[in-house]
Amino acid sequence: MKIGVDVDSILADFIPTFLEYVNDKHDTNIKYEDINHWDWLPCDLVDFWDEIENISKLKSWMISVQPIKGSIFNMKKLSLDHYIKIVSSRYHTAIPTTIEWLYKWDYPFDEYIPTIFGVKKTQDVIDCDILIDDRTKNIIDYLNSDHSRGIGIILDHPWNRDHDKIREFIDNEIIYICYDWYEIYDIIQSISRGRRDGKRL
Ligand SMILES: [Mg+2]
Repeated sequence: MKIGVDVDSILADFIPTFLEYVNDKHDTNIKYEDINHWDWLPCDLVDFWDEIENISKLKSWMISVQPIKGSIFNMKKLSLDHYIKIVSSRYHTAIPTTIEWLYKWDYPFDEYIPTIFGVKKTQDVIDCDILIDDRTKNIIDYLNSDHSRGIGIILDHPWNRDHDKIREFIDNEIIYICYDWYEIYDIIQSISRGRRDGKRL
């Protein structure tokens, strides 16, 4: 299968590094658990997107981001059976650093697809059987772009815990909520076996 894999908060544990940068700069004390909405910080003094753009240009910060626990090990296992597409919406300025970061941690991938400046992660853009992402809207855009195809996997974070809009997808096993990379791997392998047995996908 073709697996689309987001970078920030899926492979790269970006938020702790980002918050260290923001808290240092603005003398704030924003914590990971405080971020309970996507693209929003609980502080009027800090513009989320301005600071994302600023840190994206700072190679030393971007390279220092740690991997999400279990992501390297399970990506290597997945790459033995599947075609891996990195699907990231990071700024243009961060793309070379992102690729360097992926090589630094030895992540396997077959393709890198930048989805930036309002490009949605739809099937015509990413062409994947499964998309792993932490932003609920990305998963909805992806599933709505081709109703006959696609499975979404959301890695749990404080900003994606409102499941109201995706309840039906979850109930129909079109979206899976995972709590770590070991669970992501197991679900993909079970979907893959199901596909060979003629189920959806
Ligand atoms: Mg992300």
